[in-house]
Amino acid sequence: MKLEYNYDIVVIGAGHAGCEAALAGARIGLNTLLITLNMDCIALMPCNPSIGGPGKSHLVYEIDALGGEMARNIERSYLNIKTLNTSKGPAVHSVRAQADKKLYQQNMKNVLLKQEKLDIIQGEVSEIITENKKVVGVKTITGALYRCKKVVLTSGTYLKSYIVVGPARYIGGPHNQMSAMYLSDSLEKIGIELDRFQTATPPRIKRESVDFSKIKKIPYDEEPPSLSFFVKGHGRDILDCFITRTNENTINTIRDNLDSSPLVIKNITDKGPRYCP
Ligand SMILES: Cc1cc2nc3c(=O)[nH]c(=O)nc-3n(C[C@H](O)[C@H](O)[C@H](O)COP(=O)(O)OP(=O)(O)OC[C@H]3O[C@@H](n4cnc5c(N)ncnc54)[C@H](O)[C@@H]3O)c2cc1C
Repeated sequence: MKLEYNYDIVVIGAGHAGCEAALAGARIGLNTLLITLNMDCIALMPCNPSIGGPGKSHLVYEIDALGGEMARNIERSYLNIKTLNTSKGPAVHSVRAQADKKLYQQNMKNVLLKQEKLDIIQGEVSEIITENKKVVGVKTITGALYRCKKVVLTSGTYLKSYIVVGPARYIGGPHNQMSAMYLSDSLEKIGIELDRFQTATPPRIKRESVDFSKIKKIPYDEEPPSLSFFVKGHGRDILDCFITRTNENTINTIRDNLDSSPLVIKNITDKGPRYCP
């Protein structure tokens, strides 16, 4: 059985970047295919649930102005929204929303599924196909061939990814997703130089273990800001945000457990991105 299909654009990966790329392609009328490892993890937020904030909110506004979906989607899905740094001058003000992670994914998936000219399939792209040094399609691990004029690669942190927890290390993608094991070799074969970064994630804590009377509640904005020029959210905070600080006890706990730190015991040696927010 020969499985062969034709598209104008194939987008690899339905993370934040891939969702925007696929929508942009389809919205300008091109037949677009989005291939992603797990349909239930479209727009997954594996780490920090925030959209916007210092160094990023201007990007969200730009995506919005260009007809993208991130800003509209967070307006439909936030738990808390705030202008940060208001004690300082306007140059450093930024709007940050905290997402309901599941709702954010669900809302983005609905938008994608309803988009005309956009097909979405679950699969792992294993190969970029070239002819005469030109990209002409992609192949998935099942052998299906998707011919196209352009490929947009937005594979995020999944390529040959592994998870590190203290001294342990195992193959896997963000949030226990699968790792994409084959595409890197194909990229190298066509002459693309690869490098590797490490990322990190904050600890998740059990809400019941926190004494909220001892930490500082961040007051909500009387006039809730918006990250989108087109969609205004529900305009209220559903969850409060709190701030706490490290103290001598925290530092002592860290000192007592340094032998469990993957950085200290060199279980991680890859470099981090310069500005992981
Ligand atoms: C633990 C952790 C902590 C992080 N912390 C932060 C943070 O605090 N702040 C921050 O801004 N960023 C953080 N990041 C980075 C975060 O992943 C990115 O900000 C964001 O998710 C990148 O979006 P993206 O669209 O580029 O890729 P991703 O969201 O990673 O999406 C990639 C998509 O590609 C798909 N894919 C990959 N390979 C293939 C393939 N071969 N075939 C088909 N589909 C494929 C995946 O299924 C996925 O849908 C963190 C990442 C991790 C893993």
